[in-house]
Amino acid sequence: MGLNVIMLGAPGAGKGTQAERFARQRGLAKISTGDILRSGVREQLSMALLAKTKMERGELVDDEPMVALVRDRLAQPDMDAGFVLDGFPRTVSQARSLDVIVEERRKGPLVVVDLVVPEEELVRRLAGRLICSKCGTNAESADGQGMTCRRCGGTLVQRVDDSEQVVLERLRVYSTTTKPLVDYYRGRPTFRTVNGAQPPERVALDMEATIDDAAGQVARTVLAAPGLSRR
Ligand code: AMP
Repeated sequence: MGLNVIMLGAPGAGKGTQAERFARQRGLAKISTGDILRSGVREQLSMALLAKTKMERGELVDDEPMVALVRDRLAQPDMDAGFVLDGFPRTVSQARSLDVIVEERRKGPLVVVDLVVPEEELVRRLAGRLICSKCGTNAESADGQGMTCRRCGGTLVQRVDDSEQVVLERLRVYSTTTKPLVDYYRGRPTFRTVNGAQPPERVALDMEATIDDAAGQVARTVLAAPGLSRR
């Protein structure tokens, strides 16, 4: 059974960093819809160019192309062991579509992790966040690496949508459109909350423990189902 994780949380909660770390550790594919769109813009792909204005304003891209993008990505062979999704779903409608996709794949259920960080801390983090203009890697302006990307040597710049005004819009969109997702998932036995305001290493440890616990719970439920119990 594959391990399929989705990361919920506001912009700046650390979803990308933690998703990357967890996926690498467990040999899972990490999918960030924001990264896919940004690399599409760099490569001048038409779907991403249509999304560009909305991204720059901090608004959400329409559900239909986003669901199509994720459906295609999840159909690729490197997804067999499972995935960690960062930035999708962002609306309840996307979440419903994802449930259908996951059901059709028949490769294990979803574990949902909500990374919770207070709003003042989110604003502080987003204002200090930099991104490599060449390869798209995220960095912190305060981590002592100057303005050069550690991975490829490209120049670090502020994301267009991390300017103060757009950050406030993204946080507003999050609380009106994306936060209802927490209610959509909360009643599930595989829904978990992690305190994202802790140091990143501590968040990573909590995430691992909580995802393993949720996945174990699914396995126990499957074993306890009528006809599948141990002899
Ligand atoms: P992110 O890097 O996840 O913060 O995404 C950057 C921007 O890409 C968002 O502000 C949206 O404009 C767009 N985007 C990324 N994922 C989605 C999604 N699932 N639904 C709609 N828009 C998205």
